Amino acid sequence: MTNRWNPLNTWFLLGTLVASIVLVPLHLYLNGFVWSEWIVCLVMVFMIGTAISAGYHRLFSHRAYRASAPIRFLWLVMGAASFENSALKWSCDHRIHHQFSEDPERDPYPISKGFWHAHWVWVMESTDKPLVGVTDLEKDPMVMWQHRNHFIIGGIFSTLPIWYGIAIGDFWGYLIIGVLLRIVVTHHTTFLINSMAHWYGTKPYSNNESAKDNFLLAPLTYGEGFHNFHHTWQWDYRNGARWYQWDSTKWLLKILSWTGLVNGLRTVSLTEMQKAKVHAEEERLSARLSNVRSQKRGVLEEHLLHTKERLVSCLSAMEQCRQKYKDIKIQYRKDPRSFAQIKTEWSLKVAEERRVLREAWRQWREIQKQIRMNLSQPTV
Ligand SMILES: [Zn+2]
Ligand SMILES: [Zn+2]
Repeated sequence: MTNRWNPLNTWFLLGTLVASIVLVPLHLYLNGFVWSEWIVCLVMVFMIGTAISAGYHRLFSHRAYRASAPIRFLWLVMGAASFENSALKWSCDHRIHHQFSEDPERDPYPISKGFWHAHWVWVMESTDKPLVGVTDLEKDPMVMWQHRNHFIIGGIFSTLPIWYGIAIGDFWGYLIIGVLLRIVVTHHTTFLINSMAHWYGTKPYSNNESAKDNFLLAPLTYGEGFHNFHHTWQWDYRNGARWYQWDSTKWLLKILSWTGLVNGLRTVSLTEMQKAKVHAEEERLSARLSNVRSQKRGVLEEHLLHTKERLVSCLSAMEQCRQKYKDIKIQYRKDPRSFAQIKTEWSLKVAEERRVLREAWRQWREIQKQIRMNLSQPTV
C-alpha cells in the first residue's frame, strides 16, 4: 500500500453522496415530485445493477455461465456506468475476496475490519496491488477494451437521462435524479453485499464463512442477498437457489438461456445443498452440545451423528435411484413396450427410496428437537 487514501475514489464517493443529500430534497422542494424522473432513475438503477450482478459478478468473476458477444458487450457497457472500476479490476478484487474471505490481510474487503470498512472504506483506500488471477479475462479483447476505456464508456451511458431531460426541457431534474442519485444508489446497493451480507443473516450451508443469507437484501441487490449459498458454491449461476428465493438475475439469465444468448448455466444439485445444510446444522448443534456438562451429552452427540449419517446416505441413495431411472428412460426411449414392463418396478423402487428418505428426515427433525429441548433446560 503506497497511499492511505485514493483521492479520486474518496472525493467521488463522498461528493456524489453529499451532493445527492443536498440536491435531491432541494429539487423536490423547488419542482415537486416528477414521476418520469424517478422511473428513469429506477430503470437505470435496475439495468446497471443487473449488469454488475449478472455480468461483473456471475459471468466475469465466477464464470457461472457462458454469454454471447452481444450480452458480454451489454454487461460491460452498462457495468462501466456503475463507476465501480473495470470488469477486470472488479473481478480481480472479487476473486481474491472469495479465496481469502476469512483472511483480513489478503481479502480486499474483510468484514473483520468492520462494517464500514467492508462497505466502502476499502474503496477509498489506495492500494497499488497488481492484477492477479484474471489471465482468462485478459485474453478477452472486449474485457480489455472496457478496462482501458471504462470511464468514458460509463460516462456516456450514465448521462443518457440528461439527454432525455434536455429534449423535454428538464435538464436539472434528470441530472439530479437520473444521474446523481442513480450513481449513489448503485454504489450502495453493491456495497451492501460486502458489508451487510457478511454481517447479518443466517448460515444455512457453511459455518466456515462469514457470508450470510439475508432474504431482505435480495430484492435490493438483484438476488445477491443469499451470500452464504454464494460463498459455498460461487460458480452457481444462482444466488437464491430455491424457486421461491428472490433472485431477479437468476430469472433473467434463465430467460436469456431459452433464447440462446447465454448458455451453460452451472448449478449445484438439490441433494448437495441438502447435504451441506444437514452438515452445517449438525456442526452448530454439536458446538452447542460441547458446552454442556451432562451424562446425556455423549448419547445425544452419538445419536446426532448417527442420524445425520443415515440421512446423508439416504439422500445419496435417492439421488442415485432417480439418476438410474432417468438413464433407463433414455435407454428405452425407442422401445416403449419393454419400458412399460419395467416402469412399474422402477416406480416402486423410487417410491420406496422416497419413503425411507422421508423417515430419515423425520428422525433428523426429531433429534434436533430433542437436543434443543435439552439445551433449553438449565441442567442437561
Ligand atoms: Zn462475500
Ligand atoms: Zn462472488
